[in-house]
Amino acid sequence: MNCPYCQSEVHPDAVVCKTCQRDFYLVKPMMDKIAALEKQLAEVPDTSAQVARIAALELQVQQASEAPATQPQPQPGLGGALADVLGYLVVPLVLLLAAHAAITIVFDLNILYLRVVSIVLPMPFGFLLFRKHARRMLPWFLGVVALALASVIGMSGITSLSDGTPVMPQNNFEWKEVIEYAASIAFSFLTGMLLGSVALVSDSGARGDQPKGPVVRMLSIMIDDGKVSPEKLHAHLKKLQEYTGTLVALGTTIVSIYTGLKNFL
Ligand SMILES: [Zn+2]
Repeated sequence: MNCPYCQSEVHPDAVVCKTCQRDFYLVKPMMDKIAALEKQLAEVPDTSAQVARIAALELQVQQASEAPATQPQPQPGLGGALADVLGYLVVPLVLLLAAHAAITIVFDLNILYLRVVSIVLPMPFGFLLFRKHARRMLPWFLGVVALALASVIGMSGITSLSDGTPVMPQNNFEWKEVIEYAASIAFSFLTGMLLGSVALVSDSGARGDQPKGPVVRMLSIMIDDGKVSPEKLHAHLKKLQEYTGTLVALGTTIVSIYTGLKNFL
């Protein structure tokens, strides 16, 4: 508090200024009021700092909500693709050939066991491959066809080594058998791929970070003049995608089992 006459610093309870010796009797109520107002003003937090803080937090929220949509799916480079081909195509191929050698040559079991292994084994590889992140179906499907053909020809090669029969099919019947067997392997892998992408879609939906692309926005505007929110429409489409994926997976499973086992049923 300052003396209203000489501006020198005075104690709030002082009734006389130490410096100019003047009496505060008349001005004391006013001085008290000013002191109270100054105290109030000092207690008001600095709003500019808060405004800046709010803006920074808003930016963080915005960045966090946009990040999954704007960040592209991690695309594996050539090394990553090669590792995926090795891990998800070559490994099941080697396992299938090992199962073939074990079942037909080492243990001399019914070939039915081999067919069952061929239907069951590729599926988890397809699942894990497509569960990891979004991938293009077609190149992998071609890879799977190659895997299936390599498996069947490899198995034939192993048989040929043990009993001297020709590696390549010798007639229409043998060709048909080879193609059916390869199809059973390919469809098993395909089933895994589909189930894996269904799992990936529902998982990303559960996290709520499914990007709402321009197509979804456009559809929501086209349908009902935008009264259907893009979020809601996206949920519908996702459900549809899940149902379709599951249904197709069921179909490919049946094809895989049928082609693999029909000669035994
Ligand atoms: Zn004074």
